[in-house]
Amino acid sequence: MKTTMETRTFLNYINGKWSESSSNEVTESNNPAKPNEVVGKIQSSTKQDLDNAVQAAEAGQKKWKKMTGAERGNYLFKVADILEQNLEDIAETMTREMGKTLPEAKGETARGVAILRYYAGEGMRSEGDVIPSTDSSALMFSKRVPLGVVGVITPWNFPVAIPLWKSAPALIYGNAVVLKPATEAAVTAAKVIECFDKAGFPEGVINLVTGKGSVIGQRIAENEQITAVTFTGSNSTGQHIGKTVAARGGKYQLEMGGKNPLIVADDCDIDLAVDAAISGGLKSTGQKCTCSSRVIVQAGIYEKFKQKLIAKVEEITVGDGLNENTWMGPCASKGQYESVQEYIKIGQEEGAELIFGGRPINDEDGGYYLEPAIFDHVSTNMKIAQEEIFGPVLALMKVDTVEEAIDLANDVDFGLSASIFSKNIDHILSFIDDIDAGLVRINSETAGVELQAPFGGMKASSSYSREQGQAAKEFFTTMKTVFVKG
Ligand code: NAD
Repeated sequence: MKTTMETRTFLNYINGKWSESSSNEVTESNNPAKPNEVVGKIQSSTKQDLDNAVQAAEAGQKKWKKMTGAERGNYLFKVADILEQNLEDIAETMTREMGKTLPEAKGETARGVAILRYYAGEGMRSEGDVIPSTDSSALMFSKRVPLGVVGVITPWNFPVAIPLWKSAPALIYGNAVVLKPATEAAVTAAKVIECFDKAGFPEGVINLVTGKGSVIGQRIAENEQITAVTFTGSNSTGQHIGKTVAARGGKYQLEMGGKNPLIVADDCDIDLAVDAAISGGLKSTGQKCTCSSRVIVQAGIYEKFKQKLIAKVEEITVGDGLNENTWMGPCASKGQYESVQEYIKIGQEEGAELIFGGRPINDEDGGYYLEPAIFDHVSTNMKIAQEEIFGPVLALMKVDTVEEAIDLANDVDFGLSASIFSKNIDHILSFIDDIDAGLVRINSETAGVELQAPFGGMKASSSYSREQGQAAKEFFTTMKTVFVKG
């Protein structure tokens, strides 16, 4: 029998109103810990719905951009307060919808509040530079201006933080937003948009359209009224979106996957490194773009590191993220659950040794639970060393020197995040210089970047633009260079 958390269907939010899609199709969003439980229903919208949202956004943006940054900031401060008041409910919805543990979901929602407040404050910053002219009777300056309508396409793994770290800067710099969240976590995203509605956001400035990536996401990429598209998700979808937007002359930003290395040097604090491998690799069930999926360990401490790692991973409790004693929740969907098991099978077929876990856990509710898995004897040409698994799987790799470790770390298509555990300043400095990663972390896990710092990757992980902090201004604005002759 199906249990339903939310009886309502979450509608689109277009032009300041909750509106029904012209299609009559709805999709159920289910709890991965109890797949029979319906968390809510969302609409499978049509291209026409998306186009309507874009029309509304275009009209709304014309007034929105005329406000001062401080006025726009006041709206964001209001949303932050409302999100904070609803933190418990939204975090619980997130846990039910995509399986992340409740403390992680609360942490992410609190981060959403902080992101809104950070960008609300950004509304008070100056928007350009005075540039000395060679003409003494002229004034020359640059002025940052909004782009217009921004399309925001987001994944399911951070359903509060990612929509907000894209939408909040887009809005504060004077753009209107059309958000299309991942179907697997669209109920959580809709609840975030409810906070904008309650804050009295002006009509058309922020819009939500739910539905299939191949329909709504695709239309966002194609719609010429959308000046810029910011995307976070898988590499293949990102590349497709990038090409589509570029073909019509639009601006785009792609944040994609990772195969992030954590290097453990002989001279490090081994217990700290073990904790970081576990936290960075297995928190959120390994479903983070920055998760430490490759652990590259120097031979001198390899065996000791491995024993300590196994001893600690044995203590991990897997279960429903709502239970207080759960450390690791289920995989977010049946598709993820099956795909991770397939990688575990491939790893064994390729000759890596599964030294811990990796089996599905029987559960009376049919939850998508997997034991955390540790592979030993992983070599760089294996799929499990090259492809993003997006699950609770650690690949151990042995090296003789730190130089060899850095070469191995770089021997993948991706370049998002990387960390080294070492007390040797020479090792640390050469790691900072030579590692191919946008996020470079020393004695700290690969996952986790403060919201005021630039975030993004290199190589196949990114289109090389940066999100978060001041860096977001580059993407969400363009510049006018103004010459005033007296
Ligand atoms: P996904 O690529 O399947 O989907 C992402 C979004 O794109 C969803 O909203 C989806 O509906 C939409 N989409 C799908 N097909 C589309 C199409 N043809 N045109 C336009 N839009 C389309 O990714 P996912 O499974 O939701 O998320 C997991 C991936 O996201 C992982 O690869 C992970 O590494 C990545 N990720 C990256 C970051 C980062 O900042 N680098 C952060 C979180 C997640």
